[in-house]
Amino acid sequence: MTGETLEIRPAAVEVRDVHKWYGAQRVLNGVELTVRPGEVTVILGPSGSGKSTLLRVINHLEKPEIGHVSLNGELIGVRRHGERLKELTERAILAQRGRIGFVFQNFNLFPHLTVLDNVAAAPVATRRLKRPEARELARTLLDRVGLADKAGAYPRQLSGGQQQRVAIARALALRPGVILFDEPTSALDPELVGEVLAVIKDLATSGTTLVIVTHEIGFAREVADRIVFLDEGRVVEQGSPTEVLDHPTHERTRDFLSKVL
Ligand code: ADP
Ligand code: MG
Repeated sequence: MTGETLEIRPAAVEVRDVHKWYGAQRVLNGVELTVRPGEVTVILGPSGSGKSTLLRVINHLEKPEIGHVSLNGELIGVRRHGERLKELTERAILAQRGRIGFVFQNFNLFPHLTVLDNVAAAPVATRRLKRPEARELARTLLDRVGLADKAGAYPRQLSGGQQQRVAIARALALRPGVILFDEPTSALDPELVGEVLAVIKDLATSGTTLVIVTHEIGFAREVADRIVFLDEGRVVEQGSPTEVLDHPTHERTRDFLSKVL
């Protein structure tokens, strides 16, 4: 019964035949991806394979030349062979983007705002919460990422690992339907990676829908419901961690794994 119920819920994220190119360079070549609610998807792939571009298309920071993306069954953009079948207003795009959290490699915190205000800013700006409520939520979220005592600090006073945990709290403040992570630990000193992965793991086990680009294979094995291997702008292979990491069927996947494992 549970399985049937899951089937009829719309996908959290659905990417259909997405093509993206910059001039003559084909970056995404017909990507298909379905992320179910509550599922943790890890995207692996060599540098330049289109992982960041795919996340940016999902978040509507880039428009695909062909294909479409939908969020909870709602189309974000529609393109078929260059034809515009439907154009969303900028306001609709912003509203939909507001339901997607994005955590960047380089944190991207506001340097002039305190940690608390970094987290509280978006719910106020989008008028979802009044300032006192947003600050209360921010305190709760900072506590969740283990940084309640840093509320009054500025980003420059924090370590990279702490800044990234603030960025995660900030993404959570919009109560997003899905959070996208683009190599969230690759700018960190090795000793700071663990604390950030621990926070992401906490989200993963609490049922938050996550799409994570990472090269941390051990972490991927632990948290992923599904691993998607991207190469040259295509999904070459996908499956459970055991399927993809232990029994890869494609030469490209084997080659990649032999280099990172
Ligand atoms: P990955 O995240 O897997 O390393 P990216 O999605 O960042 O890959 O990039 C894929 C390819 O697209 C790369 O060759 C990159 O140089 C190119 N690319 C990405 N963004 C742009 C852009 N804004 N303009 C031109 N080329 C881009
Ligand atoms: Mg990238």
